[in-house]
Amino acid sequence: THFGYETVAREEKQGKVAEVFHSVAAKYDLMNDLMSFGIHRLWKRFTMEFTGVRKGDSVLDIAGGTGDLTMKFSDLVGPEGRVVLADINESMLRVGRDRLLDKGYSGNIECVQANAESLPFDDNSFDVITMAFGLRNVTDKDQALREFNRVLKPGGRLLVLEFSKTNNPLLSKAYDFYSFSALPLMGKIITNDADSYRYLAESIRMHPDQDTLKAMFEQAGFANCEYHNLTGGIVALHKGIKP
Ligand code: SAM
Repeated sequence: THFGYETVAREEKQGKVAEVFHSVAAKYDLMNDLMSFGIHRLWKRFTMEFTGVRKGDSVLDIAGGTGDLTMKFSDLVGPEGRVVLADINESMLRVGRDRLLDKGYSGNIECVQANAESLPFDDNSFDVITMAFGLRNVTDKDQALREFNRVLKPGGRLLVLEFSKTNNPLLSKAYDFYSFSALPLMGKIITNDADSYRYLAESIRMHPDQDTLKAMFEQAGFANCEYHNLTGGIVALHKGIKP
């Protein structure tokens, strides 16, 4: 049946995503720096400027992986605040937790294994939610956005940083070549796993473009939705507020 097919496709995608991140976890930070020439740090810094986070706030960094944003939030919310680093993947979360401990972070941070589609948090619990380079891996993105809306406090902000679509044809060609040829090769050399990087390139191509994602934010109940293109639209930062 059609329903049966969808269930299989869904499980296949979740299984593939789990496999990819188990496989890349140990070398994730190194690969991130190499693949983006370090630019992911600038994209993340840009994201932080829009969080409006204050001392004492509660923040959820969903699909937080190895905790880049979590660390920045931990400093900003201070000892009276709370940051939850949540990720569906145990290996990524373990690397993240070890990295936080190594760097001396612990007091105001919790690490939680969670699926963005069904969050284990009460309604109205967070002032800010961030998701960096995670949404494209989620099977039911609309459901994840509804969950973010549910657990945000009224007035709370959602920020989603994700690969997007560039409307510059030259940049688009160069980027396609880079992601489908150079990335899998780098993946093979560094992690002996070209397939995972092929999957990541494919998932970027399938991800909704800027305006489609903005409409999905609105559909999920967010107000004041807007986006900023970064690096010619290769990446976009989407923002929405829970009314
Ligand atoms: N946010 C980190 C960063 O920007 O460096 C990690 C991004 S990494 C490319 C994507 C992360 O999304 C992985 O750690 C993966 O396990 C996580 N992820 C994938 N599907 C998820 C889901 N349904 N719920 C929560 N996390 C998910």
